[in-house]
Amino acid sequence: MSLRHHSPQDRRTALQADDILGFTPALPEPVADGMIENVIGTFELPLGVVPDFPVNGKTYNVPMAVEEPSVVAAAAHMGKIARAHGGFRAETTDPLMRAQVQILGLTAPGAARDVIMAAREELIAAANACDPVLVSLGGGCRDVEVHLFQVSPAGPMVVAHLIVDVRDAMGANTVNTMAERLAPRFEALTGGTVRLRILSNLADLRLARASVILPGDAFDPGVTRAIAEACALAIVDPYRAATHNKGIMNGIDPLVIATGNDWRAIESGAHAYAARSGRYVGLTTWEAGEDGVLTGQIELPMALGLVGGATGTHPQAQAALKLMGISSAADLAKVAAAVGLAQNLAALRALASEGIQKGHMALHARNIAILAGAHGADVDRVAKGLALSGAVTVEKAKELLGA
Ligand code: NAD
Repeated sequence: MSLRHHSPQDRRTALQADDILGFTPALPEPVADGMIENVIGTFELPLGVVPDFPVNGKTYNVPMAVEEPSVVAAAAHMGKIARAHGGFRAETTDPLMRAQVQILGLTAPGAARDVIMAAREELIAAANACDPVLVSLGGGCRDVEVHLFQVSPAGPMVVAHLIVDVRDAMGANTVNTMAERLAPRFEALTGGTVRLRILSNLADLRLARASVILPGDAFDPGVTRAIAEACALAIVDPYRAATHNKGIMNGIDPLVIATGNDWRAIESGAHAYAARSGRYVGLTTWEAGEDGVLTGQIELPMALGLVGGATGTHPQAQAALKLMGISSAADLAKVAAAVGLAQNLAALRALASEGIQKGHMALHARNIAILAGAHGADVDRVAKGLALSGAVTVEKAKELLGA
């Protein structure tokens, strides 16, 4: 469905989302006051939607909370192209998170590692005793790993990892509780001193993957090869990879925010994963076949939850999940990965052909029109005038507003 030339009210009606999204305030002050400290108000962002975004044979209305123009339009455009060609395929690994327990003051770190591994079953059982709810849902601690650092600024250290299946939670509180509860046992086993007990945001066991295959006629001739060539720069050059990955996160973060999830966790996980080989690289690959077929793939950590944190307390996060019709954290992670891939494709397509400023400035012109004081129908009129004039400035907007 095309929602472009409608009012926000009409869009909510078309999505049958009036009851879930048409309420104000979006975040009541008493709820906000309970969420963080020293609350003095709330901060709003535009909430857009990408309609009918195709993943694994289903279509999703994807909510995006974002301040940057062109993000929603780009994802919607690539969603539409993908929809005509089978859509995105996506999958996830099990929702396994890591908690780290740092053990210092060891005279024989190798022996400490052995003693921890010998107590593996006991440690797993002790971790699971911390969270009977999670265990009853089929989750819980699955394994223990030991990472040994013979040399560090603080001397040799052993870092035990608890590997925990957190089901539909983001899992930070879940695994932190386990790590803190087990700390005395690690000290007793090793004779060392436990310092940190905290999850790792490098959620490299909790991955989401998405892919898309587009035929040669999906884009203008030459554009497919140009997209693959543009992607190649992100594989060899971290200066480009940083911006390439920022473009991916342009798609993922707005969905993460709209669903009340921890976008700092998703960001740090993505960038740490991009640098896991020791060299920071792009998180997607795009290949152009001889026949012009374009194949794109993305793989990154995706620690998203449907329970816990703000997902349960923020009314709009609940509404966003309802709008999507999502009932598992794994499905949310699949859509997020696919949106990241779509956003990356939109950026590469524009960069590899006309450049991004044309589309970006046309949308940015609306912001400038509002800054110059335009309201209602004047916003579009002034924005169009700005785009036509080629001078997207507040001065020009004021001139057009007065005309
Ligand atoms: P949580 O503790 O509120 O919820 C998780 C708990 O909910 C589980 O332990 C389980 O007992 C229960 N639960 C009920 N139904 C469940 C289901 N279907 N699947 C899984 N668990 C279910 O939240 P959390 O996800 O452990 O923690 C998320 C919060 O932690 C976020 O707000 C995040 O910002 C914050 N946090 C993040 C970091 C970090 O990323 N470094 C560090 C600390 C805290």
